[in-house]
Amino acid sequence: MTAPPVFEAALAEAQAWHAALPEARAFCPWPDDMTWAGRKPHALPATRHITQTPGATTAQSSAFLTAIQALIPHADWRHGYTAAQVGQDFLDRFCWCELAGPQGHFHSNQIRLTLAYWGPNLFYPRHHHAAEELYTVVSGEALFHADGTPVATLGPGQTRLHLTQQPHAMTTQDSAVLTCVFWRGGDLAEMPSLSA
Ligand code: ZN
Repeated sequence: MTAPPVFEAALAEAQAWHAALPEARAFCPWPDDMTWAGRKPHALPATRHITQTPGATTAQSSAFLTAIQALIPHADWRHGYTAAQVGQDFLDRFCWCELAGPQGHFHSNQIRLTLAYWGPNLFYPRHHHAAEELYTVVSGEALFHADGTPVATLGPGQTRLHLTQQPHAMTTQDSAVLTCVFWRGGDLAEMPSLSA
């Protein structure tokens, strides 16, 4: 079974994005084990915001944003958290999907590649996981917090590395943020744990 064109297009843009960012190339090679997994679409309230308020792009990131927006009706959007953990407003304006990975639209055991969106004025609480992680901002901007690392405001094309079990958090202000996140090592199917 082959992937629908909308997914092939998004994967091609993701690969171009990875190739264009030195930090992403250094973080992991582009996986060579991907197969189409045929996951079913799953909608969430937040997905319409990716179209309406994605945040600013650059010339480098606008094609990737367009490809992600085209995926909205077709992707398996997830939360992974409960309202008790993060609040209902957070869940209404947060979503992610796994483009590639152990539970991705394209199956891979080499990396996990997720596309994650937060609306404006949200706080993503401190959390941690075994896998090392590279955030890359596709559109908008956010403040990235991590234990032992200075806070930084990152916009399109900028990246942030999180080490194994390093607690990290994120704050959006006036702008939403859409990110492409790479994981390597650890348990690629793990759900992050909120930190104490
Ligand atoms: Zn993380």
